[in-house]
Amino acid sequence: MRNRQAPHQRLLAVLAPWSVLGVATFGGAAVVAGAFEPGYQARWFSVVVALVVSGTCAWDIRRRLKHGVGDRLFAAYEGPILWVVAAWVAMRWLGIVAAHTYIIGAALLAWLVAVMPVSVALFAAGAAAVLEVGLFVVGRQTLSELVVQVLLLGGAAIGLRLFARSQVYREQVEAERVQRHQEEDVQARARDFGLLTAQAPAIRELPRADDRPTVGRATLDYLTESFHLQLDILRHGLGLTTAAVLWRAPDGLVLRGCSSSRTDLAAGPYPTGLGIPGSVLRDVPEVTVAPVHANFAGLPYYDAPGGVGAAMAIAIPAATPVDGPAPGTAGVLCVDRASPEPWTETERVVVRAAARKFGLDVGTGQRLKHSDHERSTVRRFCVALQQLNGALGLEQVADASLEAARAMVRADLAVVSVVKGEVHRVVQAAGHDAQRYADLQFTGDEGLVGKAISLKTSLPANAEYKGKRPVFTAGDKLDQMRALLIVPLSKPDGETIGALTVASREPGAFASPNREMLELIAGQVAVKLDLASAHEQIREMATTDGLTGLTNHRTFQQAFTTMLSRADRRGDPLCFILTDIDHFGNLNNTYGHPFGDEVLRQVAGVLQRAVRKIDLAARYGGEEFAVILEGSDLDGGRTLAERIRAEIEALVFHHETKGEVRLTSSFGVAAFPGDGTTKDKLIAHADLALYHAKAKGRNRVEAFADLPPDAEMPQKKPKKDPPAPDA
Ligand code: GH3
Ligand code: MG
Ligand code: MG
Repeated sequence: MRNRQAPHQRLLAVLAPWSVLGVATFGGAAVVAGAFEPGYQARWFSVVVALVVSGTCAWDIRRRLKHGVGDRLFAAYEGPILWVVAAWVAMRWLGIVAAHTYIIGAALLAWLVAVMPVSVALFAAGAAAVLEVGLFVVGRQTLSELVVQVLLLGGAAIGLRLFARSQVYREQVEAERVQRHQEEDVQARARDFGLLTAQAPAIRELPRADDRPTVGRATLDYLTESFHLQLDILRHGLGLTTAAVLWRAPDGLVLRGCSSSRTDLAAGPYPTGLGIPGSVLRDVPEVTVAPVHANFAGLPYYDAPGGVGAAMAIAIPAATPVDGPAPGTAGVLCVDRASPEPWTETERVVVRAAARKFGLDVGTGQRLKHSDHERSTVRRFCVALQQLNGALGLEQVADASLEAARAMVRADLAVVSVVKGEVHRVVQAAGHDAQRYADLQFTGDEGLVGKAISLKTSLPANAEYKGKRPVFTAGDKLDQMRALLIVPLSKPDGETIGALTVASREPGAFASPNREMLELIAGQVAVKLDLASAHEQIREMATTDGLTGLTNHRTFQQAFTTMLSRADRRGDPLCFILTDIDHFGNLNNTYGHPFGDEVLRQVAGVLQRAVRKIDLAARYGGEEFAVILEGSDLDGGRTLAERIRAEIEALVFHHETKGEVRLTSSFGVAAFPGDGTTKDKLIAHADLALYHAKAKGRNRVEAFADLPPDAEMPQKKPKKDPPAPDA
């Protein structure tokens, strides 16, 4: 046939086998020529050579990883030679800036010599020797450098090769190989016998990508042992050569049990359609052949044909699965013997019964495994409930709910949200992208969560999800998720207070019975969440002042003690401000108590907004307020007090009949540790400063530190320490 390739294609075809070696030679020549030595003029040339060498290296390595060594000319040698050249390019170049770069070459050679066939390693070492000698010949290194270099490279290579050949190392590698093989075998057997079940991950862990199903190891061992025993009984009882169980597997028929007096057994897997097992799998449940011809090859487990007088194959019925219809034939029981006598009816009955027994055994194994799985599910359910029971606060309950959900199902995202009126709020989120959903607020008409709550039913109905419909807010779609379940949290009285949302990348993650378990736990979560929010309400009532919403007097006293000891421990400053509205008695008398109450609320609002989150604003009593500033010194406290004073002064109230009303406030400031180290001292000193602010004309800030040394409270205070309004 004429060659119809274009000329350039022909040229390429001729050059291709030489390309890697060509680049190696070119790179090696450049190394010897000094392209990577200090002071070399044409830097661009060095860069081009380095790029060509490293690019070809990368291409060569990729090709080897994908297609193996390949069968082209010099395929085995060219790669290692090029790698050596690349290493020398790197060494000579890096040598300009760093010493001891010859370690690169030593490591590469050692590795090549240890793992490559001797001939390949020799070529690589040869390339290294050529480079080293070349560098010496052109005067780029002295004789002593050459000798040291060669000793080092040779020493490293021979040392690693000796280690790799050593008994200890080889035993270790062999042991690892055997263990890997055993694990793979266990997995394969378990898969064939239907003993793999997916388990939800342990509590406190989101599923990892490589979570593998668990194997019922004990069941598997039992099955294997039982198969062997029965096959032995069959073989000895019926005078057989071989009794074998061939099982259907994804890659053909595999030997899952065998008792034989012959040693030339092929390991399998065998193609499914072959021989008499093939006929059995093609709907002929029982095949008997006797006598068979001399070169009979209908039994795939023998390496060579012949040596068989009679053979029989019977279908092993598949166990009825725990859930679902029976799938037909699971495997084939094959028996053969040297005698060509026809099989008697008794023999057939025995083999038939054995085949059924194998099927039953596997069915029993599957049931055992299934009940094992169910038991562990129940255990996880109990742990989940226990966690839920131990939780008290709203966040804690939400946390425990997520843990409970994740203990039962493999969720990639789990979210607890609550609803008040029209507003839904995420209380806790965990898993994929969770921070996106933390503290999210949305309305009921936006996504599936709102819909599930208003319909009081779990959504989507089949727990499947295509990543298209908004789940929480109108804008969010969980586009990577393929299973979704939103379970409304309904109290026993029917009121729905929120939703538990779980999503998974795995389709079908929330199918039965996971769905039912989640719905069951949702009822518990609803009750606990409700209790938690009641608990939260009670706590709030106990710690805040009913009129102003500020911290009440008792809590203020406790918090002051805590904050003070913390400041003392850490050596931080702390500032205490006491403020009292000026002439509030008059205001009350003129405009009435309800108006006075409103004024108190607004003044409290000013205080609350003025302080940082770590500070504390409290209603000290009557129209007196206290502020504790953590980490602030006297100056900080004075500045803040001044700001609050100005803001109160700027407040304008409107009385329905008497028009605009304004007011002012006076402030006393005392700082820890300068003005006192105990709570009582600090309060007394701030109070004294406040008294002086009043005495000096009100609407001003006074610090205890600025008072004259002899300043003291008058015998008869202008007002007594007021009782706590809610004490
Ligand atoms: P000074 O400038 O000296 O502080 O004068 P003052 O009138 O503000 O001082 P005084 O302590 O004599 O008056 C406090 C008044 O605050 C007395 C009380 O009627 C009123 N008060 C205390 N608690 C409340 C409250 O909860 N609501 C209302 N509306 N008034 C309150
Ligand atoms: Mg007052
Ligand atoms: Mg007062």
